[in-house]
This record gives sequence, C-alpha cells and structure tokens, in this order.
Amino acid sequence: MFTLKIFWSLVIGILFLPTVLSAANGDSETIRVAVQKGKESIRINGVGLVAVDSYGNSLSVSYPLVVKKEGSGISAGGVFLRSLKVTSSGFVQIDGKGYRGHLEVYPSEKGLLVVDEMLLEDYLVGLINCEISSQWPIEAVKAQAVVARTFALFQKQSRKNLLYQLESTVYDQVYGGSDIEDSRAARAVSETRGEVVHYNGKIIQAFFHSSCGGHTEASHNVWSVTLPYLRGVDCTYCMQSPSVLWEQALSPKKIENHLRAVGYNVTGLEKIQILSRYPSGRITKLEFVTAKGNVSIPAVAFRKIMGYGVIRSTDFEVKLVDGNFVFVGTGYGHGVGLCQWGAKQRAEEGFNYREILSYYYPGTRLVSYYSE
Ligand SMILES: [Zn+2]
Repeated sequence: MFTLKIFWSLVIGILFLPTVLSAANGDSETIRVAVQKGKESIRINGVGLVAVDSYGNSLSVSYPLVVKKEGSGISAGGVFLRSLKVTSSGFVQIDGKGYRGHLEVYPSEKGLLVVDEMLLEDYLVGLINCEISSQWPIEAVKAQAVVARTFALFQKQSRKNLLYQLESTVYDQVYGGSDIEDSRAARAVSETRGEVVHYNGKIIQAFFHSSCGGHTEASHNVWSVTLPYLRGVDCTYCMQSPSVLWEQALSPKKIENHLRAVGYNVTGLEKIQILSRYPSGRITKLEFVTAKGNVSIPAVAFRKIMGYGVIRSTDFEVKLVDGNFVFVGTGYGHGVGLCQWGAKQRAEEGFNYREILSYYYPGTRLVSYYSE
C-alpha cells in the first residue's frame, strides 16, 4: 500500500540522491593544495586565462601577470586586490610551472599564498612522480595512487573549513604541478579510480614514507596516536633503497645552534647518548651531554629540529669522530604506514597493489569512494 510514509521516503530519497552522488563523484571531487607559500612575487601566464577579484568581478589584466604582496593585500599588474582567482581551460603557469584547475592568490603573513583547486584524480597523476617514479612496477605505482587518494580525502574531511587541505611538501604529500604527469602515472590513477583504504568503514590516515629500513613504526611511537592499522610490520623489502645506509657528519656547533634556536639550552656539547629504542630499532630518546648538565630530547623532535633530510630517520648510531658527530643510520622517513621502497620490491616479486596495501595497513580493505 502506498502510504504517506513511503511517499515521504521517496521524496527525501529523490531530494538527497543527487547530493550524495555529487559529494563523491570522480568528475567533480576536488582538492585544494597550497602550491606556493612565502614568495614575495610570482608571474602568472597561460593560454585563455580569466582573472577575477575576491568579489568575482573579472579583471582586465595582461599576461604574463606579475603578482606581489602589497600591505594587507596583493597587487596584480599594479591593481590592488584582496585576492585573485585565475582559471584556464588548460593550464595556469606560475613562474613557468604548469598547474591544473584554477589558482587563487592570497596575501599571507610571509609573502603570497597560492592555492590550486583541481580534480582529485588529476592531482594524483601529478603527484606520482613527486613521491616515487612512475617507472617503478605498475602495482607499486597503483599502491601509491590509492594511498595518496586516501591520504588526501582524509585531510579534506578533517580540514574542510580551511582555505586549503594539503601542503605540497613532505608535511603532507609532495606536489609540483602538472608538468611531470605521464602516461604510467595516469594509468595507475585510472586503474584504481576512486579506490580508498578503509578501516571499520572509515577512511584511514594513510601515512607513508620512503623506506623503513627493516620494520615500519607504530603511529603511537611517532605521534602518540594509536591506530590499529598503523602498528608496525616487518619489512625486509626496502634493502634496494638508496637510504638503506646513510651517514651524516655534523659539528657540535651546528647541533648546538639548532637546539638553542628552539629553546634547548645545550652549550659545550661533549657527547650524544642513546637512552632507549623502540622494538623497531628506532630511538626513543637522546641525551645531550655537556659540562653544565645533560638535556634529553625525543629522537623524533631531534630529527625535526635538524631537518628531515639531514637526519633521515631515527634509527641510527652516533659517534664522535675527529671533532664531529657522525650519524650512521638506516631508512628514510618517519617509518609509519606504507614503505615506498618496500612496495616497489614487493611489486617486483609479483604482489599486486591490493596485497601490498593490506600488508602495510593490516586489517584494512579497499572500497570505492565514488558512486559512479
Ligand atoms: Zn621497508
């Protein structure tokens, strides 16, 4: 019997169906990425560009367009604006580099902020060669595509009210525009179109890193957040990584200067002691020994202070050699989640991207995010 209840459920269904579809449609799902930060001036160029101000009024400007920070706003070709939006049917170039979608330029505390809003699937194609090489075995490239999509959508959900949702650096995912897109990257993205990693019906925090050096790390040991699918697994697959063994020599002065700059009172550094390690082998805490006393610092914090590319991982030994501290370590990155070099080797050994993902994110499953 056609009751009023059925009638209303149909009406509600019809009303809400298009909303649900458009919220997760591969042809409209976008992502906002901060592609430039801190530059005082940029040059915008391209074919068929349309520029509008913060009110949506179109601007008659000529290209290349020089945009500078000016007071609390910006100047675009000499015109003072609060912000600028540039769209193109093709690519927008900033300082010679191509970007998809549309670009927005804002003044920030330091220089200019440029946000690129583009289709998520397009973003992933450009990202592949920034994070790994599309020439790696295709199953490893597909694993990277799924992980990057999952990571981006998680950040999009948690930062939905912010001006942008992703940094284009190692703080989120490295992204350098559309110039390095290629057919293998596009293939990996399209063959996994819309696929994301879930745990208990929710999008996971799909952390990944370059190489783990033998054992991935539990998220709790890096960020004090316990996630069941990021508990650390053995990985003997990343031994081909260029960072399987790294070495870095640093003078005591350099270390002291970096530590003092962030408030640690370390002067006259004599020795660096390793206080403890996690089961993975990564260091928990370091002690900096001076004549005036000792200062202990978490190894994760020390790596951040010295630079992620300087101290490549927290799994190292340290010795004083000829007046310098020499760090000899293994792995590159925080070690949490997917190990990129491990994924490469696993793909070479015949594992597919689904097997690779379920290995590094135990207990998870792949689901389709898009409804079409
Ligand atoms: Zn590994």
